[in-house]
Amino acid sequence: MQLPSVLPAVSALLVLIGCASAQPRPASQLGEARDPARASVRLSAPEEHAYEQEFFPGTTYDAALPAPASILGFELGAQPASHAQVLACWRAWAAKSPRVKLEPYGHTHEGRELVHGVVTSEKNLRELDAILARIDKLADPRKLAAGEEERIRATTPAVAWLGYSIHGDEMSGVDGGLALAHHLIAGTSSDVTELLEKLVIVIDPMQNPDGRERFLALLLQAAGATPVLDGEALSHGRWPNGRGNHYLFDMNRDWIAGTAPETRARWKAVQRFHPQLFVDAHEMGRDDSYLFYPQADPINPHLPRQLVEWQTRYAADIAKAFDAHGWSYYTREWADGWGPFYTDSWSSLNGAIGILYEQARYDGQTVELESGEIATYRSAAHHQAEASLANLRTLAAAREEALAHYAEFRRLATFGDGSLERPWFVVRKGPHAARFQRLLAVLAEQGIEYALAPSAKLRNALDSFGGVSAEHSTDDEVAVISALQPQGALVRAYLEFDTRYPKADLERERRELELKGNSKIYDSTAWNLGHAFGLECWWAQSVDGAGAASAALPAAASAGISAAPAGAPVYGWIVDGMDDGSVKFAAQALQAGLALSLADEPFESAGRRFARGSLLVRAHENKGDVAAKVESVARVAGVQAFAAASARAPGEGHDLGGQHFELLERPRIAMLSNAPVANTSFGQLWHTLDFELGLPVSLLDAQDLGGYDLRRYNVLVLPPAGGIASVLEPHLDALRAWVEGGGTLIAIGSSAGALARESLGLSSVRRREDVLAKLPEYLFAAQRERAARSIAIDEQLVWSGVPASAPTADGKPAESKPPSSALAVDPDAEREERWRQRFAPQGAFLRAHVREDLWLTVGAGAQLPVFFDGSLSLWSRAPATTAVRFSAAPDLRLSGLLWPEARERLAESAYATVERRGAGQVILFASEPGFRGFHPATGRLFRNAVVYGPGAGANPPRLR
Ligand SMILES: [Zn+2]
Repeated sequence: MQLPSVLPAVSALLVLIGCASAQPRPASQLGEARDPARASVRLSAPEEHAYEQEFFPGTTYDAALPAPASILGFELGAQPASHAQVLACWRAWAAKSPRVKLEPYGHTHEGRELVHGVVTSEKNLRELDAILARIDKLADPRKLAAGEEERIRATTPAVAWLGYSIHGDEMSGVDGGLALAHHLIAGTSSDVTELLEKLVIVIDPMQNPDGRERFLALLLQAAGATPVLDGEALSHGRWPNGRGNHYLFDMNRDWIAGTAPETRARWKAVQRFHPQLFVDAHEMGRDDSYLFYPQADPINPHLPRQLVEWQTRYAADIAKAFDAHGWSYYTREWADGWGPFYTDSWSSLNGAIGILYEQARYDGQTVELESGEIATYRSAAHHQAEASLANLRTLAAAREEALAHYAEFRRLATFGDGSLERPWFVVRKGPHAARFQRLLAVLAEQGIEYALAPSAKLRNALDSFGGVSAEHSTDDEVAVISALQPQGALVRAYLEFDTRYPKADLERERRELELKGNSKIYDSTAWNLGHAFGLECWWAQSVDGAGAASAALPAAASAGISAAPAGAPVYGWIVDGMDDGSVKFAAQALQAGLALSLADEPFESAGRRFARGSLLVRAHENKGDVAAKVESVARVAGVQAFAAASARAPGEGHDLGGQHFELLERPRIAMLSNAPVANTSFGQLWHTLDFELGLPVSLLDAQDLGGYDLRRYNVLVLPPAGGIASVLEPHLDALRAWVEGGGTLIAIGSSAGALARESLGLSSVRRREDVLAKLPEYLFAAQRERAARSIAIDEQLVWSGVPASAPTADGKPAESKPPSSALAVDPDAEREERWRQRFAPQGAFLRAHVREDLWLTVGAGAQLPVFFDGSLSLWSRAPATTAVRFSAAPDLRLSGLLWPEARERLAESAYATVERRGAGQVILFASEPGFRGFHPATGRLFRNAVVYGPGAGANPPRLR
């Protein structure tokens, strides 16, 4: 028996799992470019610490179906299996076993295939379509005939979906899943065959191939020839690691919005099977054991009412299985059930019982733990397989009950219990065709039904800014979504404006913060798509004008070029600036070498009114077939360009040949990458510019900033990066010179906080803690902006010096007085400030006011819901301009948890600022715009900053 030379201890283990032939396959047969058997370096797995416990003792196997080791060329769990190796196993099994159907369901950004394997009895597999058709009726109770549900429950297998390693660097799930798959496919004893009669098991063997392959490559690059047991060592990964997909999106938080192609493919695949059990296997810190659900409080109110009860039943069988081995584990201590965007919560909102596992992570290697215990990667895979098998046993034993629970959940979602005050969600398209289209696609792909109506009259309507009207009419297109439909739980969980923490959980959180400064909150406390998209929307008691529900998407806005008036010459082409597609039009037009300009005010032309931020391509400023170029770019951007016959703008707007159209400059973009840059934020911003806008982005290494000639770029983006000040400090002179020479420097979150330090000399914006004594001066600036938003002239005061309104005690009109609480700077202010920072929001929507006379804010209305995360409170006054400023304390919070201390720190602080420095500018965002790729309302500001910044806010050298 030929064995890999790096794993001499394997031969004994192969016998244990009953593998008849373990001839390693040549790497080329697996689609691998390397042969692990011939490598002189390897991931740390010293032979003396081999893990010798048998997986699934007592089961007999069909020797005709190869065990994983004989396909991989190494013992399962001796090192992490690659994507090609996992596919090779599944393909080998699918070719030989009548119990398996291997189905591709999508591709990753890097082109790797996503597959799932359906494993069940031969009979069930033959009848799979009929089984799924029956469960589909349970999923949509409107399709059920009388008595049909009971018949289906009695005769139909339950469905389990097992998903592994959605975080690519949490590796053991994949190998545990592979062991389990072989067990289920090749097992011949009754412990396996009886499971397969009662269950249809869908295994998603590797949810994040791009992340796993990236992490494997990092591990391998750091691997040595001598085993290292040190878990802290470099051989356990480095920036950007493997958690996210290609663009580093955390796909365990992507289920709400499907920014990743993997998520969108998975939405479709899962909905075909309507699972009753959904497992999502992860890893956690190294010196830990094994966590599984029931989950921690609080539980999102839209999740199934019996969720925790069911999770507790599943947990009992995992506990029994683990106790039989003497393994450590725990439940409920963390991973709360509040955010509805996780894999397990999405599946539970679909009616499954979602279960999370967290295995201690060893990064595919053998490590020495703090206790001195040696932990092997193979043991981690064993835990994952054992937990999944226990869950399958629970489901098989409770098959009919699980189907009944599923049917009951879907029935309640569809028909309700009469308790909803406002069961209708209505969203208006308004000027945001692209955003509206995207929102509806996100909902439709998750199986949510909606209807389009040309207008609607709403009763008892609550809008997204908290206003309530007894009656509200819209006279243009809306989408109407009922909360009572088969996916009604998702509708409510994702669209409800302000799901509030239960009081008991608030008290517990407060106690933790007061005593320990630790938050128990696992993730963001706000997420609703209405605020994230910044579209006008309502929850209403009733809606007139909505037709029958339909899942048809609205036709995409017509893209291309409008015909010029017959016989008239064309002066130019105009694209309206409200729709987000206009920024892509500008980006692509600049790339194509077109000269174009940005309007700073609304105007009329071509028989239409155009918003500020509209784009003008003048014929005489461009060469060649301009119409053809404009048309081609407009199609790529999905927008309509309107031909104008004249430079004259009728009405009050400015003429097209004048000074209210700023010539744009092609952005030449650099973005900082590598440590200490926050990788998920970096990935999101990179995805926006590269994937969505189609702009080339040069990724600079933060560790070698001095090695670049910044003059090649006119935009430099600093994503959030803790500790970036020390990275920038050696290069401050060069950075300042670059900005003053015309550069647009954009800093976000903690990077904005670093730039706000006086010592860096790059911005006049300051962090709150640095200007406590001067807060009244900053508040005065906020107050002047507020006054400018609602101009009220007292003519008597102007002409005669006597105010018409009664003066207050101090002789000033009451409205000009800043809020007293914010003015009080007591001697202990610094200590107070540090204390208040402890209560920073972990993701909340805050109301912000927009300066509507700035290029940076085109496409935004007067108010903006801003997703805010963290403790940075930025304060600005002249010479910096505050483009977006948070509201005053009383109406600041829109959604999510905002403690009073945080409310006070953030009220009237700056979200987005722009400041001229020489020929260039510095733009700061206090929190990440476009967070997680599904916040187009704030994402628009970032797009404006990058695409319009070099032309509209700076004077870089014009390079043609
Ligand atoms: Zn994870």
